[in-house]
This record gives sequence, C-alpha cells and structure tokens, in this order.
Amino acid sequence: MNTPIPSRPVVLCLSGHDPSGGAGLQADIEALLAQGCHAAPTVTALTVQDTVDVADFRVLDREWVVAQASRVIADMPVAAVKLGMLGSVEMVATVIELMGQLPGVPLVCDPVLRAGGGGALGRDDVGYAMREHLFPLSRIATPNLPEARILAELPDGTPDQCAERLLRHLEHLLITGGHGDEAQVHNRLYSRDGSVQDFVCQRLPGSYHGSGCTLASALAGRLALGETLPGAVRSALDYTWRTLRDAEQPGHGQFVPRRLPLDL
Ligand code: PLP
Repeated sequence: MNTPIPSRPVVLCLSGHDPSGGAGLQADIEALLAQGCHAAPTVTALTVQDTVDVADFRVLDREWVVAQASRVIADMPVAAVKLGMLGSVEMVATVIELMGQLPGVPLVCDPVLRAGGGGALGRDDVGYAMREHLFPLSRIATPNLPEARILAELPDGTPDQCAERLLRHLEHLLITGGHGDEAQVHNRLYSRDGSVQDFVCQRLPGSYHGSGCTLASALAGRLALGETLPGAVRSALDYTWRTLRDAEQPGHGQFVPRRLPLDL
C-alpha cells in the first residue's frame, strides 16, 4: 500500500454563495488557502448580489445541506468548522445535527444577518436561534457591532453591554469594530472568565464586502492549525487587516479584500 500523503488541515465551511466572489464561500476558500488549510465548502444558500447590495437569496433544502456535509465528514478529518450565512431557522437545526457528527471539533460562528451593503441575509430570528442553539456549541462567535446589537437585543448597546448579554450563551466572543465610529478600530475579545483583550488597528478608508467572512474563516483556519484562541484571533485579525489594506474595487460598490498574493 502507498504511504498516505499528509494533507493540510481541513476546514468545513457552511456558508452561502455570493456570485460577486467578494463574500460567502469564495471568501472562505481564499482565506483558508492563505492560512495553509484546505476548505471543504458546503453551500447553505444561494444569493443574488453584487458588490453594492443583495437582491435576493434562496436557502437550500435541509437534505441537500446534510448530504453535502455528511459526505465530506465521512471522507476527511475535519479539523474545524466555520459557519457563515445560514439564512433560516431550519438551517440552524441542520447545523446542530451536523455538529453531532463532529464532537470536539472547534466551531467558529460568524452570525451573518446582513450583507455589507445593508441588505438582509436572514431575519433577525435566525440570529436569535443561532444565539440560543449554536453559540453554546461554538468555540467563538465573531459578530460585528451591528450584529452584536441585534443578537443582544440592545439597539444602542456598547460592545461591553452586548458582550455581557451574549457571554451567557458562549465562552468567547470577538466583537469587531469596523462598523463603529471610533477613530481607530477596536476589535474586542471577551471571555466568560471576565478577560477582555482589545486588538486595535488603524481604520482604513473603504467599505468592504466580505471582511467578516475573511476574518471568521482565517480564525477557523488558525484553530485548525492548532493555534490557541488568543493567538488565532491575533493572526486572523492581522491577516484580515492586510487583505483590506490591499483591497480592490472590481465592481461599482464595496471593495473586495485581496486574500491571496498576486504572484500565485
Ligand atoms: N455570506 C454571504 C453569502 C454573503 O453574501 C455575505 C455578504 O454579502 C456575507 C456572508 C457577509 O459578508 P461580510 O463579510 O461583508 O459581512
């Protein structure tokens, strides 16, 4: 028998497809390749959108999502799972069912509810179902401040106030500050043991499509590689900042992070 060739860590992604290529599964795949991981993309939803905004979306049937992911889980050793757009409360139940096949595998939950342009990618009750049922299964969730406010049901909440509410449901929470109005971007990592780490970076002038997907995927990749949580958060934030600094504007709307080097 041939000696097996070692593979890069596999990250199972459960996310939507964005045909502009800026966000969703394409963002996940590119960000994971850049960490040295192999992305296994399961489609949860199709969207109709460009770099300006979302026009429509369709969530896949539960059976199709279970079939895609189960096939991969039976074939490959999944080292981490990254969740993006789920689109429906039923999809939350589907993910719980799939995670039952992956005991102990770290789950990074990006609670996607809106596209960068503001269009909805799921009703708020999808977020509440994620909070109630998926946060307890997650190693970490990565909401931006507007998402954290929706999830915490605190429309004007500060990051600290939102974190206090949300840490009732999970151990670690990274609230990103790109959508805030502070002069610099504060990305705050809150943990249930009371610790708070503030990762500050320079605010860049653009508005970006797929930055949250990039961050959560890079973080899942870093955990799959065996980094500890605070180290993985730092590496993923530094990587994401560089992709935004080098972003391009391929369409008429938001900038798209450049996640891979030009000289591939
Ligand atoms: N997932 C999908 C399929 C999307 O289409 C989008 C945005 O359009 C997102 C996630 C979230 O994108 P962002 O990383 O900009 O929050």
